[in-house]
Amino acid sequence: MLILLLLPPGFRRFLLALGALVLASLLAGAFSPSGLIRSLIAETGPVVVVDPGHGGVDGGTSDQEGTLEKDINLAIALRLRDHLRAGGVKVVMTRTTDTDLSPFRPGKSGRHRRDLAARIEKARNTRAVCLISIHCDWAGDKKRRGAVVFYNPRNNTGKELACAIQEELNRIQAVPQKAAPGNFFILNQSGLTAVLVEAGFLSHPEEARLLGTPVYQDRLARAIANGIRGYFQW
Ligand SMILES: [Zn+2]
Repeated sequence: MLILLLLPPGFRRFLLALGALVLASLLAGAFSPSGLIRSLIAETGPVVVVDPGHGGVDGGTSDQEGTLEKDINLAIALRLRDHLRAGGVKVVMTRTTDTDLSPFRPGKSGRHRRDLAARIEKARNTRAVCLISIHCDWAGDKKRRGAVVFYNPRNNTGKELACAIQEELNRIQAVPQKAAPGNFFILNQSGLTAVLVEAGFLSHPEEARLLGTPVYQDRLARAIANGIRGYFQW
C-alpha cells in the first residue's frame, strides 16, 4: 500500500483501475453460470441431453384425432439429435423409443416424479452442458398457438439459451412468441441448465396438423439445433 502511495498519481490511478478490472472479471468468471458452463464445456466438450417428453404409459396430451404428444415429441427429438450430431455435438437421448423412464428409479415418490428424476440423472451422469426437453402444449382456448421455450429465471445461461432458441423458432412460425419463465420440475434442478420447448399447441387444429408432419417436425428440430449451436458457438 505504501509503495502505491509513493507512485505518481496518474500511474496510481491506472494501477487501481487495472486491479478493479481484473477483480471484476475474476468475479464474473467465478460466479456466473456462464463461467461454470464454460468450464464444463472445456472439460467434456459439447454434450447435450435431448429429452423427448413423456413416453410409454404416459402419452402426454393429444390432438383431436388422438395423436399422442409423446410420439410427436420423440419424432422432433430424434431429428434434433441428428441435426446436432451433424454439427459435431455429442447427443445423449433420455429415450429413443416409446418408453417411460420410471422403472429405473424405484422409490417412494410417484411414477411421474421418478420418471423425471431418471431424466435429470441421465443429464448429470453425462455431465451434459444442457438438457433440452421437448413437449407439445394444450389449451382450452383453441386459438392459442406457437412454440414457446421455457427457462428457469434463476439460471442466466438457461434464460439466454431459451431466448436464442426462441429467436430461431420465430423464424419458422406464423406468430412470433417470447421465451418465458416456467416452473417445471426439470428446470428447477441446481447445477443443471435445462430448457423446455413446447413445440406448439395440439389443441390448435392447424398447428396440430403441422406438428404431425415430418416436414414441420424437421423445421422445428433444425431451428432448435441452430439456436443451441448459435448460443454456444458450436
Ligand atoms: Zn408434455
